[in-house]
Amino acid sequence: MVLGLLLAVLTAMIHLLYHREYAETEIPNDCFAAVAATGETALPKLVCLTFDDGPSVNTQPLLDILEEEKVPATFFVCAQDINQAYLPLVRTIVEQGHQVAMHSATHRYATIYRSSDAFWQDIKQLRQALEPYLLLEDVTWLRFPGGSTNTVSYRYGGREIMKTLKTQTEEKGWHWIDWNVCGEDATASHPDAQQILRNIQEDAEGLSTCVVLLHDTKATGQTVKALPDIIQWFRAQGYTFCTVEQLSELQSTGE
Ligand SMILES: [Zn+2]
Repeated sequence: MVLGLLLAVLTAMIHLLYHREYAETEIPNDCFAAVAATGETALPKLVCLTFDDGPSVNTQPLLDILEEEKVPATFFVCAQDINQAYLPLVRTIVEQGHQVAMHSATHRYATIYRSSDAFWQDIKQLRQALEPYLLLEDVTWLRFPGGSTNTVSYRYGGREIMKTLKTQTEEKGWHWIDWNVCGEDATASHPDAQQILRNIQEDAEGLSTCVVLLHDTKATGQTVKALPDIIQWFRAQGYTFCTVEQLSELQSTGE
């Protein structure tokens, strides 16, 4: 069952196309585009908007737009110093029908990818930070910093580290997901709202299921600006919005 879910999600997104590191930000944001499997499907066109590396000062404005548009989203959260003041927002995120998921407490590649123990220690730290605000048992989805196909982890934990972490995630009964559409909103070039929309439109071309990577850090004000147009564009293309968890449920019942 769990394996089935994972396979369904995996068939929709895999294969690293490119990898970048952004040295100038305190949070390294690696961006991977992946190719989704196209072809016949019984499912409607679905899109998951996902926001990584928050919460931050930009999270509430995003929530206001999502509320106004009645669009559910998924937030892969961190618990760095810069997130601390905004962590209570995860309660609001859940209350408004969105999904809170795990990303990383520290988001420091050199620390989290040193070993599998180090990785799970970081996740433990993240869960402890979230515990006052939500039901931890509901937080079962994870996005690996840099994505599951990142190679930067090899430097710290060897070539098998991601494979090990993926297996261990599944052994815990948890799930992980990458993305197949990238807004590139946290890149060093600081794209404006129009460019973020264009990046998404290009990646989403021909895909029936889109998992869109965006960020809600303090540096991604242009993402807030772009969000209404992003929502409008997906609506016009006939997509239905859902959380990552809902996508997984739909894919498992749709098979
Ligand atoms: Zn991240």
